[in-house]
Amino acid sequence: MIEAKNLFKYYGKQSVLEKMNVTIRQGEFITMVGPSGCGKSTFLKMILGTEKPSQGKLLLNGKSFPNEPSAEIGVVFQQYSVFSHLTVLDNLLIVGRFKRNKTLGFFAKGQKRPFVEKALALLEKVGLDNVLDKYPHELSGGMAQRLAIAQALLGEPKILLLDEPFGALDPGTRKDMHKLVLELWKELGITIVMVTHDLKEGFYLGTRLWVFDKANHYSVNKNQGSTLIYDLPIGNNEPELYR
Ligand code: ATP
Ligand code: MG
Repeated sequence: MIEAKNLFKYYGKQSVLEKMNVTIRQGEFITMVGPSGCGKSTFLKMILGTEKPSQGKLLLNGKSFPNEPSAEIGVVFQQYSVFSHLTVLDNLLIVGRFKRNKTLGFFAKGQKRPFVEKALALLEKVGLDNVLDKYPHELSGGMAQRLAIAQALLGEPKILLLDEPFGALDPGTRKDMHKLVLELWKELGITIVMVTHDLKEGFYLGTRLWVFDKANHYSVNKNQGSTLIYDLPIGNNEPELYR
């Protein structure tokens, strides 16, 4: 469970999130839409641990979030976040700090096999098992995002953060990605918090849709407003409805 209690975030004198109070239960799929600059990515960064709250509390299962990114939380951004100089498989293996041993196939040591097998199973799950030796520049945008998702899931996170992950993809590819994300969400029982600029996507995927009303660029000193969220329980639709 993720809880924000009177959460504020300032960057210098600029106040971005104000008095935010939300609760996300394990297994929910939150989709967030709202104008540019209203603090959506900032909220994700605080969950990820790369930004700290300025005031108030952000709690993971009742405790403060770890200050550093941890395996508990996976993240995928719009920009492809994979390593361009590594193959598809090596992009996952590097997460476990493993190097492939060319002469021996994968690894000499037996204890490393489970990790390799996990990586291979994950790549199969996201549909990349037939391109293990390709480099990211040889992949389509959708495939590169599949790889980024596999990478994010490697640490078996309980929470997956998606920041406009499909923003750069064409509509057909986006639909395929929606299907994949819903499958993974259902199968793994993870909590997903996703930012999108596509309202339809937000409605389609989320169990709750958060609409940030406006960019809050108040002066910190005023501190009177609160981040306005319309919180719509929608229950995500079944894929059939999307056609
Ligand atoms: P978009 O839809 O464009 O991605 P967003 O809702 O994700 O917008 P944020 O990236 O959270 O918005 O940024 C909120 C505000 O905070 C913006 O005005 C941005 O310029 C500012 N901001 C974000 N990160 C920093 C930073 N590290 N230092 C200073 N200001 C920042
Ligand atoms: Mg953003």
